[in-house]
Amino acid sequence: MSRSIYDLSYRELEALLSEAGLSVPSTRDLWRMLYHPKGVKGGLTGLPPSLRAWMHDTLGEGKAFELNSPEVVDEVHSEDGQTRKFLLKLQDGQVIETVLMGYRNRHTVCVSSQAGCAMGCVFCATGQMGFSRHLRCGEIVAQVLHARKVLHRYAPEARLRNLVMMGMGEPLHNIDAVLKALDIISDERGIGIGPSKITISTVGVVPGIERLTNERLPYGLAVSLHGSCEEERAALVPISKRWPLDLLIEACRDYTQQTGKRIFFEWTLISGQNDSPDTARRLAALLDGIEAHVNLIPLNPTQGYTGSSSPTDAGREFQAILRELGIPCTFRQYRGIDVAAGCGMLKGVNACIPKYSA
Ligand code: SAH
Ligand code: SF4
Repeated sequence: MSRSIYDLSYRELEALLSEAGLSVPSTRDLWRMLYHPKGVKGGLTGLPPSLRAWMHDTLGEGKAFELNSPEVVDEVHSEDGQTRKFLLKLQDGQVIETVLMGYRNRHTVCVSSQAGCAMGCVFCATGQMGFSRHLRCGEIVAQVLHARKVLHRYAPEARLRNLVMMGMGEPLHNIDAVLKALDIISDERGIGIGPSKITISTVGVVPGIERLTNERLPYGLAVSLHGSCEEERAALVPISKRWPLDLLIEACRDYTQQTGKRIFFEWTLISGQNDSPDTARRLAALLDGIEAHVNLIPLNPTQGYTGSSSPTDAGREFQAILRELGIPCTFRQYRGIDVAAGCGMLKGVNACIPKYSA
């Protein structure tokens, strides 16, 4: 199988072109053609003949590198038209999902890092399907290119400015490919989504958080917590047995202290599981001294989990307690629930879930 050109970093592309005797500006031109929203002036004919000849010999089906994009199996949009979910089929037949969300002038793409997920969170559709494989760097980048193409189809002037690694899979379980892809995606010479507008969401893969800390990576961090003590968390997030809550909290504390950045803690509210006033107080104590913001997500329905979302009053009380105890806390908006594009509803089949009445 030939490699995708989208798997190459700028430096790797530069090395490849220089081996072929092409100049430094050729890398810039090709990079711009591959990634910049405006492409290159004059399109392909605007490129130097030597670069065009190299592209003709090297890029395409059966050649050294493919310029392939995933096949779009389906595109569905929510009733309000603000959320679009794409089902994308990869070369080996795996189907992944990417979600494009619009809110006023703010457009965000939600990107998958794996086909399936190995972490097994009980309430998550991706966790329920199990793990198939890691995505390659180019497969992560291609999702952003596709979302941007669609955005420009219906809003030609809009810019895709925000990215969340909150699609299928656990990004820090596939950290090398994810970081390489984010490097490409945030490169100003191409796609140019600012690093501070990119958020990596993790279920709590401690070595991955440590790497983000040590390498001072410029992205935002969200940590899915869901439990205020080991027992409560492990019932929902089995991977907590591998990286227990105290280790995770330590890694988070270290992250905020060393980077000076805040962490978003995601909390899926499940009735009778993690929505009591006592839990809220324990959570506030747990986060004491950590620069934190808690994001409450009412549970979205999935086929493999019978739990239900917390009643609105319980959620409001939970929020009020955290705020009183000095922890900023907001609710995440309902987004794309009617097309199964909400948090944790992605599972690579065009699932038709009845409209959720909030
Ligand atoms: N694997 C990463 C990122 C993908 S999941 C992580 O777990 O953080 C994105 C967010 O959706 C996580 O916070 C996850 O806990 C949440 N989520 C999963 N299933 C959900 C569901 N059924 N309802 C609401 N939120 C859910
Ligand atoms: Fe994986 Fe995140 Fe779903 Fe847990 S919530 S199973 S880590 S995708």
